[in-house]
Amino acid sequence: MRLLSNLSLRVALSLSGVLGVGVAFLRPEPVNEIGGLPAVFAVPAELAEVHALGRGQTLGGVLSDAVDSREHHVLLTAFEEQATPRLMQIGAEITLRFRRADRWLRGVDVVLNADSIVRLTRDETGWRSKMIQTPTWTDTIYAAGDIEDVLWNAVVQSDALDGMPVRDRALLIHHLDQVFQWEIDFSRQIRRGDQYRLAFERQVRPDGSMRSGYLIAAEITNRGTRHQALWFEPSGDGQGGYFGPDGKSVRRAFLLKPLEFRRVSSRFTNSRFHPVLKTWRSHRGVDYAAASGSEIMATADGVVTHRGRLGDLGNAVAIRHPNGFITRYGHMSRFNDKVRTGTRVRQGDVIGYVGMTGLATGPHLHYELWRGGHPLDPLGVNLPPGDPVPTTDRARWEAESSFRLALLDRGASDRVLALAEGEGVVALAHPILQEGGEAR
Ligand SMILES: [Zn+2]
Repeated sequence: MRLLSNLSLRVALSLSGVLGVGVAFLRPEPVNEIGGLPAVFAVPAELAEVHALGRGQTLGGVLSDAVDSREHHVLLTAFEEQATPRLMQIGAEITLRFRRADRWLRGVDVVLNADSIVRLTRDETGWRSKMIQTPTWTDTIYAAGDIEDVLWNAVVQSDALDGMPVRDRALLIHHLDQVFQWEIDFSRQIRRGDQYRLAFERQVRPDGSMRSGYLIAAEITNRGTRHQALWFEPSGDGQGGYFGPDGKSVRRAFLLKPLEFRRVSSRFTNSRFHPVLKTWRSHRGVDYAAASGSEIMATADGVVTHRGRLGDLGNAVAIRHPNGFITRYGHMSRFNDKVRTGTRVRQGDVIGYVGMTGLATGPHLHYELWRGGHPLDPLGVNLPPGDPVPTTDRARWEAESSFRLALLDRGASDRVLALAEGEGVVALAHPILQEGGEAR
C-alpha cells in the first residue's frame, strides 16, 4: 500500500508539472487566463505503477503481484505474441495501469528498448497485445567549431550542443572517425587550432535521443589542410560511401590506426612515438592505450603470416599486404578464432582483442607498419585514394555534392552549432535526395 501511495503521488506530480498546478498551489489567487485549469483537480480515473525490472526479476514475477494465476497465464501468452520475456533486460520499465475505483488491471506497457513497447490491453474477452514503435522525426544538425585541445572535448563539451544527449555527441565523433579513418588519426594528429564542420542527419525520438544518423557532409581542417567528405550513393551500389569534392573516394589501402577512435584512451600522448623522437627507432611502432578486449582491426587487405607468441609483443598477428607492406599487432589478450596463419583478411576485419601479453605494463595495442625491411610511421605513408565516383553517376554527383558541400556553411556561419530545434528554423527535413534523384 505504501508503494501505491507513493506512485499515486508520483502521478499527481507529473501531472502538475505538465499543467502548471504546482504554481497554482503557491499562489492563493491564480490568475486564470485560460480557464481550463480546474479540471486538473479531478482525480485521474487510472492509476499507474511503474516497475523497473531488477536483477533476478522476471516479467512474470512482476505481473503475479497484480493478477491471479489464471489471468497471469493469459497475460504472459499475450505478451509472448510480441516478444520473449526471457530476453528482457535489467532496468526494463513495466507500467501497470489500474482502474482507480477497484484496482482492476486494465493495461500493461512493457518497454523492450528505446524503440519498442509491447502494449497489453484488457477487454471483455481477455488480453490483446500489440507492438508500438516509438515515433521519430528527422532533422539535421549543423555544427562547426575550433578544436582547443582534442576533438572529443570540442564536440562533447560544446555548450552549443546542449540539446543533444552526451551519448549521441560521442556517437557523432565516432561517425567522424569512421569517415576520416583513412585520412586522419584523431588520436595522434588533431592539434589545437584545428577546425571541424559537419551536417548530420538523424532520426530523433520524443525524448531527444537519436535512433540513427549519418553524416551528410563533414570537414576537418588539420594543421591547415582541409579534409572534406560528402555522402554519395552510386547507382546500383546499394550502400554508398564518402567522396571528396573532387569525386575521389576517401578510402585508402590502409586505415591509419587499427582501433576505432572511441576505443583509444588518451593515456599515451600523441607525440610520444612520433618518428622524430629517439624512442621511435628502438620502438618501431605506435602504441594505443585501450580497454582490454577492444577490437583490433586489420588495417588493410592481406594474408596472415603469423598468429601466436612473438617475443616482447606477446600474442601477436602479422599480416602481409600488397606492394611489400607488412603490419604487426602486439600484446593481444586473445585472437579472433577465425584468424589463423594463411587466413586472408579484409581491411577492418577484427583479428584480435587488446590485452597486455608480452612486455606491457598496461593494456594497449602495439602496431607496426613495415616496408622493405624498414619500420614506417603509418601517418607518414601517403597512399592514393580509392575508386572515384563512377562516370555514369558523374552528373548526379555534381548536383548532389555541391548541395551537400554548401550544407557545411550553415553551421559555420556563426562558428557555433546550430542545432535543429522544432521545425523550420534550422532543421531541414530530408535534405537528401528524393526518389527522382533531384536535389531537394
Ligand atoms: Zn609498443
